Amino acid sequence: MEQVMIIGSGCAGWTAALYTARAGLQPLVLTGAQPGGLLTTTNLVENFPGFPEGVDGFELMSRLQKQAERFGAKISFGTVESVDFSGRPLVLTVDGERREAQTVIIATGASHRHLGLESERQLETKGVTYCATCDGALPVFRNQPLVVVGGGDSACEEALYLTRFGAVVYLVHRRDQLRASKIMAERLLAHPKIQPVWDSVVTEILDVAQDRVTGVRLKNVKTGAEQNLDCAGVFIAIGHVPNTAIFKDQLELDENGYVVRRHGAATSVPGVFVAGDCTDRVYRQAITAAGMGCAAALEAERFLAAG
Ligand code: NAP
Repeated sequence: MEQVMIIGSGCAGWTAALYTARAGLQPLVLTGAQPGGLLTTTNLVENFPGFPEGVDGFELMSRLQKQAERFGAKISFGTVESVDFSGRPLVLTVDGERREAQTVIIATGASHRHLGLESERQLETKGVTYCATCDGALPVFRNQPLVVVGGGDSACEEALYLTRFGAVVYLVHRRDQLRASKIMAERLLAHPKIQPVWDSVVTEILDVAQDRVTGVRLKNVKTGAEQNLDCAGVFIAIGHVPNTAIFKDQLELDENGYVVRRHGAATSVPGVFVAGDCTDRVYRQAITAAGMGCAAALEAERFLAAG
């Protein structure tokens, strides 16, 4: 039986591994299907403290992994299929195999909600992105027209952030009213560089043939009219989906599927702790996930010490 099993290998997971490894607990990290998590899909991370020139997302995650392994963290590339937190020990089924743990740290992250277009998939990292804070400042977007898709607080925040870089920012929303909070909506609508495109959906991102983003094909949902809009980047901000489906009947989740956190990093089950984007709908940054991973590790350590 493991003392600590960590589900997920993003910033939260590897930081939890580093701390529990240094405490001599030899944590086992289950990487899941996307080792390194969402950040590995980002070319340049410029807002992780300690890297003044920025750092490649994959490189950052490799460094975190190395640091945790140096102190005895173990890694398994398995995927957790189901969990049974109803008794002790805690039971995980990993690629069909039963594993037992005294404590579990959940750091399964969240996935960006996708539009579901084939062209979106093909042009991801080639002008299609899901994170303005990560990618907005890249040279390819500077002084270019940019498109943000969505009408919530995230889309408004992304659009406002992108006004620092883009020539003009089009906010494409499927209705004629924003879902965002009043203050964000007002700020967005008052900004001279932002042009809302109402009642419209993106039906295709152009241009797969050129292997880079040159524009979007839009359809007005009220009139059915179609038009092309030139742009160098498409920032999709239509919400996130926490990766928590396997915990549905085992832990308290909120109405959007985020793991409910109590007393710092604890969950509704003693010995199960949580960190990062699977429990955080507000900040969703690499550094906040890392901080929560640290907190979850310290809590797990205390739980084990209390016996
Ligand atoms: P959200 O509030 O769920 O908004 C998602 C937006 O995307 C909605 O406008 C929705 O349109 C649109 N959308 C969803 N699926 C779509 C699709 N398939 N195609 C086109 N559009 C689609 O998500 P969020 O903006 O990420 O915010 C999540 C939570 O975090 C919210 O509670 C928000 O207040 C909070 N947040 C707060 C801040 C802040 O206060 N600074 C910043 C970011 C997030 P409809 O409106 O038509 O449904």
